[in-house]
Amino acid sequence: MLRSTASRGLTSALRAAKQRLKPKERLESLFQLTPEWLQARGLKGVILDLDNTVVPYKFRGEPTAELVAWVEGLKRAGVKLFLVSNARRKRLAYWSEKLGVAGTGLAFKPWFGFKKGLRRLGLSPQEVVVVGDQLFTDVLGGNLAGLHTVLVPPLSQRELGYTRLVRRLERWVLQQLG
Ligand SMILES: [Mg+2]
Repeated sequence: MLRSTASRGLTSALRAAKQRLKPKERLESLFQLTPEWLQARGLKGVILDLDNTVVPYKFRGEPTAELVAWVEGLKRAGVKLFLVSNARRKRLAYWSEKLGVAGTGLAFKPWFGFKKGLRRLGLSPQEVVVVGDQLFTDVLGGNLAGLHTVLVPPLSQRELGYTRLVRRLERWVLQQLG
């Protein structure tokens, strides 16, 4: 009796955890987020992960013409953008300036960063989508904050050993989510 109650509790806890980790949508590329795509979903703002979502991990240099055009297109359409990254503040500031998109570094996703992003965008959770390449930071944090969530494939395979380990776990979780 006790055991079955415990196991039921565990099952429902796991189900809840799975829902928290499930991206609302998965896209093949960041560039699929167009003004029309956002409008169709009632979204007015985008919170962007930096590393491996907008630019390859550790990459410093010039943004591609495609990236610049994508950012400009969204801005022209009145879409508000904000970067929320766990990267160091200096790195965030570098890309923030290159792209002309405000943001916050050392955010400690999934626990922090998204509320600040919402405040800075001046939008409500239902009006904002989080785009990122990681389940346990971007998707989990976005879901916990009540935002729309989109998972995109990482731009580069070059990552920290720790992140590679997390990737294996992510693949497993995504399989479980179906
Ligand atoms: Mg990332």
